Amino acid sequence: MKIKSINKELSIQGGRTLISGPCSAETEEQVIETSRQLASTQKVDILRAGIWKPRTKPGHFEGVGSIGLNWLVTAGKETGLKTATEIATAKHAEESLKAGVDVLWIGARTTVNPFAVQEIVDALKGIDVPILIKNPVNPDLLLWEGAIERFYNGGLQKLGVIHRGFSINGKSNYRNQPLWEIPIELKRKYPELTVICDPSHICGQVDSLLEVSQESLDLNFDGLMIESHLNPEKAWSDAQQQILPHQVLELINQLEIREEQKDKKHLPLNNLRNRINEIDDNLLELLSKRTEIVKNIGVYKKENKMSILQSDRWKELLDDKIQKGKQKELSGDFILKLFSVIHLESIEVQNNIMNKNKWLDRILKKK
Ligand code: PEP
Ligand code: MN
Repeated sequence: MKIKSINKELSIQGGRTLISGPCSAETEEQVIETSRQLASTQKVDILRAGIWKPRTKPGHFEGVGSIGLNWLVTAGKETGLKTATEIATAKHAEESLKAGVDVLWIGARTTVNPFAVQEIVDALKGIDVPILIKNPVNPDLLLWEGAIERFYNGGLQKLGVIHRGFSINGKSNYRNQPLWEIPIELKRKYPELTVICDPSHICGQVDSLLEVSQESLDLNFDGLMIESHLNPEKAWSDAQQQILPHQVLELINQLEIREEQKDKKHLPLNNLRNRINEIDDNLLELLSKRTEIVKNIGVYKKENKMSILQSDRWKELLDDKIQKGKQKELSGDFILKLFSVIHLESIEVQNNIMNKNKWLDRILKKK
């Protein structure tokens, strides 16, 4: 699969792409006035507005429907902005194209469903329209890749993605966790793929929009999708996360644009990186030694009929490392994640020693 970058095509300004507009189209006046204000910033490339809204629970505003497509396209024509909307069915795809919407995006709740994705791909076969695929709601890179592949196999090559964060259980500062490692891995696998960040749906509020936008740019994302509304408090959907059109400009003006450096001319940086390389090699050496000891522990536990997980020991170890880590300015969260991975690998190694071929051994012995 050889995906070409479509960033230049999406961006009127020629640089990174900025998509903005309301979560939902509400009235014709709202869409046109938002478009005027966004266009006057001279930073926005694409006007977004949701026409059909996928809501978690029924009884909420579910979008104005097809009539809003004309508002969106009229607003785009009047202001020179390109237009984008979310499609979730073949019918949405056909109606949006017929109305003349420039860019279509696949929502997070659709990307999770291969049947729905395939239905849209089939409806769009042979049509040269840019498609932006939002990540699935759950943190599953393969599912995201699967949707990209379906479009690609259907002959649609103007593909990009939108990172809007992942829904996970439990408390969080985010509406949807960024889990940056997932889009980073996607970028590693498909370096030419255009990747846009949607900080509005990641944050779910406005306070950390700037921070998340900046982080995405520092991870070399190709653009941003930011929800904006003429009167955010009164918005019919996602009221807490929308900002005024002129605040979009303020936010963009505060962002630091830093470029990826591919050449190796930076001597001080190279020296620091060499030191890191040495430390990483030492880490590998230590992890290999640790694993050898874990194997012996596995043998001992097997001989003494001890279970793999010894909860008290695991708790003590973790508490101790978090405590010591804090003294060395390493965050508790990092230590928890790091040692959870190390511990899980240790469980796997012991499981291999204690249980692999267990049933096979028995069957062979009986023969
Ligand atoms: C949206 O963009 O308004 C939307 C519904 O997004 P998501 O699919 O990311 O939830
Ligand atoms: Mn929204």
